[in-house]
Amino acid sequence: MLEEMMQGALSHLEEAGRYLTLQPEVLEKLRYPKEILTARLMIRMDDGSRRSFVAWRCRYDDTRGPTKGGIRYHPEADADEVITLAFWMTFKCAVAGLPYGGAKGAIRVDPHELSRAELERLSRAYVHAFASMLGPERDIPAPDVYTNAMIMGWMADEYASVVGHPAPAVITGKPIALGGSLGREDATARGGFFVLNHLAVGLGLNGGQKRAVIQGFGNAGVHIAQLLHEAGWTILALSDTGGALYDPAGIDPAAAVKAKRQHGSVTAAASDGARVIGADELLALDCELLVPAAMENLIHADNADRIRAGVILELANGPVTAEADQILDRKGIRVIPDILANAGGVTVSYFEWVQNRQGWHWTLDEVYARLQQVMTREAQQVWDLAQEHSVPLRTAAYIHGLKRLGAAIEAHGTQNYFNG
Ligand code: GLU
Repeated sequence: MLEEMMQGALSHLEEAGRYLTLQPEVLEKLRYPKEILTARLMIRMDDGSRRSFVAWRCRYDDTRGPTKGGIRYHPEADADEVITLAFWMTFKCAVAGLPYGGAKGAIRVDPHELSRAELERLSRAYVHAFASMLGPERDIPAPDVYTNAMIMGWMADEYASVVGHPAPAVITGKPIALGGSLGREDATARGGFFVLNHLAVGLGLNGGQKRAVIQGFGNAGVHIAQLLHEAGWTILALSDTGGALYDPAGIDPAAAVKAKRQHGSVTAAASDGARVIGADELLALDCELLVPAAMENLIHADNADRIRAGVILELANGPVTAEADQILDRKGIRVIPDILANAGGVTVSYFEWVQNRQGWHWTLDEVYARLQQVMTREAQQVWDLAQEHSVPLRTAAYIHGLKRLGAAIEAHGTQNYFNG
């Protein structure tokens, strides 16, 4: 029995299918993951003891190319979450027009409880356990929640030792010194920012006040705060696992980054006009833009009704449940869905893979220009589909992705090939 989250994801697939004429085999193929492997990773801790951690890698669908998706380290990770995230990656890569299928991996661990050496042993153990599933032409991991370039560097090195030669294209989001791409670090936020700017007029964001609320202050949250701040937005509130900070006069993202680094939470950036507020209070703030940039399901049936933002830009994966989606739609709140809004990360991952395979380095300007081209092109297509069918942007994004997936699955040969 698949969990509620996957049911929600599948409901978008079925809904999109109603707008397209597809062979029934297309939906049948996309309803289930291609493969999921579970492993128990056993590592030596610094005190000499041995501890084990459960880990997964799911390759959801590879019709459009090698599978792609991050690896997260989280104490609550589970197999259903990994499968759902791999499903979303499948659609995200299709929406962005990248020649990839979708995958995801996870280790159930709180990385903050491990020393750096323990973290390295755990990351190398992951690659060792899943090496036969990975490969530049097969499955290409990247960072996700609580993983970063340093971890990708260890993983690339471990994979090289398994196969006996360097193979940088097996993993993206690597340190620049090991073949990482310029612009990968802030790519998720920058991609979302390009989409937001491109759709601003249609979304009614081109004039008047510009107040943004950001939930989550990891990689995506930090960079979107900086980009919005530079573009003249007032950052009304920010949150992280330590709490939420609200300042009607606006929060300086640089001060929030400093507070988090020095004291562990953005709430330490409290200045004269600022105050610490509750997580649900943050969601209920009157603003033009709400950016969920933390974990999935944080906007649900019990708090969606209180949201007063005009537009939601989903930089997290799956931050809005299917039930909440309907409530937001009824309230007239426009949601720029994750599979479009946060596709900038995997798009620059794709650029990194291309550069690795060519043995070539692009300049930062080239990366940004190409990212902008992809994000605005696909945002426009999603927007046009939403207009054409009078549907929310999420449904339009699923229609857009499903068109490409459907065409690829049918081109591989469906029943019609045999019926003449
Ligand atoms: N973890 C990111 C995501 O969810 C990036 C995946 C990638 O670059 O492969 O989109």
